[in-house]
Amino acid sequence: MNTGFFWDESCFWHGGGNYASMMPVAGLVQPMVNGGLPESPESKRRLKNLLDMTGLSKELAMQGAPRASREDLLRVHPAAFIDQFKAMSDAGGGEIGLRCPFGPGGFEIAAQSAGLAMGALEAVLNGELKNAYSLSRPPGHHCTRDEPMGFCLLANISIAIEAALAKGLAKRVAVLDWDVHHGNGTEAIFYDRADVLTISMHQENNFPVDKGAFEDRGEGAGEGFNVNVSLPGGAGHASYLEAMDQIALPQIRAFKPDVIIVACGYDAALIDPLARMMATVDTFRQMTRQVMALADEICDGRVVMVHEGGYSEVYVPFCGHAVLQEMSGSDIDAPDPMAALYEKRQPGEAHQRFVSGEIAKMRDALDL
Ligand code: ZN
Repeated sequence: MNTGFFWDESCFWHGGGNYASMMPVAGLVQPMVNGGLPESPESKRRLKNLLDMTGLSKELAMQGAPRASREDLLRVHPAAFIDQFKAMSDAGGGEIGLRCPFGPGGFEIAAQSAGLAMGALEAVLNGELKNAYSLSRPPGHHCTRDEPMGFCLLANISIAIEAALAKGLAKRVAVLDWDVHHGNGTEAIFYDRADVLTISMHQENNFPVDKGAFEDRGEGAGEGFNVNVSLPGGAGHASYLEAMDQIALPQIRAFKPDVIIVACGYDAALIDPLARMMATVDTFRQMTRQVMALADEICDGRVVMVHEGGYSEVYVPFCGHAVLQEMSGSDIDAPDPMAALYEKRQPGEAHQRFVSGEIAKMRDALDL
């Protein structure tokens, strides 16, 4: 088996509520689905379930990974932040940043989520697997060194990268963030670094509203190693593939990384409640093909996907299944139940021309 799938049941138990019916959440009392928050275990659990239902999971190297240790976390997060998070978690949970609630044991679950990303990256870099997917939850790309936000409690991908660099498993890493929201945490952590290229493709002015400008290109040694592809609302299938082809892929090709990590959110999907983009299952399938073809060309096929956002409990599993089918080269398909309808809902010609123009402006400004 060439493709790893890293998951852990505890990641589905992360929640903001401290009660299950009338019983306090503790020990083996599983939290209820989050009270009112759009981020819930369901979109992730149902992806795992769909892989089992179709049998694709039998063609993947399903496995767990150890939690990220305190030493692993300290490469990215200050001790004071780690201690505060751990103390709140031990005391029964709370909220540690903008829209970052967690219950008892939330610290350990977040460390597990980061540990899965670490395990996936390490297994690919040491050659055990060709590529790997980490079903991380809570997500990580909004979390800076000391400021969790947007459901992200620890910076999963950054923790994994720093561990790999510290172990000498890689020298240069490219992060392509296609979650529909700006990857502000990953950007901030590596903003002054030339060894980690960060690219975020996102809906402009979504979340965080004041981040993700095209002009933000990095600073100091990191000048030129951060790229924000800020797309207008309503951008659809063709625009995503065009932005990949015209901007993201050429940037990664020029950077020559040892591995490509995708911050793999599915909230650019047409049905997602937290954004206004028009991507479909086929968009994520085609973008995966694009990344894999480039990885074959420049870094022996080394690709690691780390799960980020995506809030349609029904649709996310189909998007993820398509990504994993492509990664593994399997024949086992889970056809998009909405394919015919969502194809008809793609933007019209005028809107398409407008978005193409915006992409061309960015490409020209980057001299690509
Ligand atoms: Zn998102």
